Amino acid sequence: MSADCLFCKIIAGAIPSNKVYSDEHVYAFHDINPAAPTHVLVIPKKHLSAVNDGGEENEALLGKLMLAANKIATELGLAEDGFRYVINTGTDGGQTVFHLHLHILGGRALSWPPG
Ligand code: 5GP
Ligand code: ZN
Repeated sequence: MSADCLFCKIIAGAIPSNKVYSDEHVYAFHDINPAAPTHVLVIPKKHLSAVNDGGEENEALLGKLMLAANKIATELGLAEDGFRYVINTGTDGGQTVFHLHLHILGGRALSWPPG
């Protein structure tokens, strides 16, 4: 828990969110400003500022994050037509909230490359 972190406050329930999944290590909720018909954020309950915050000690947690995302994408009906995972990292990556989050985007054909 990082006291000033928006997503830590969401995990703690201090800020409301539209939950789609929760387990011991992972929490997921709908993005407040969806960029696609389905736009879910999957986050570790442990505060990591970005995907590259830390090292080997997070190996299992990073795996759990992606496996949870796979489960959520399937449950939301995205597996057949496909979807995209995005992890914006740092300033050039467009990261605005500094608690690691994996975006699940789906429900329409997504363009490539990103802007
Ligand atoms: P980033 O740009 O850091 O990769 O993504 C941050 C995401 O968090 C954005 O898509 C933004 O819409 C979402 N977001 C920011 N504040 C809130 C909030 O209070 N609640 C929810 N559900 N999403 C938020
Ligand atoms: Zn946090």
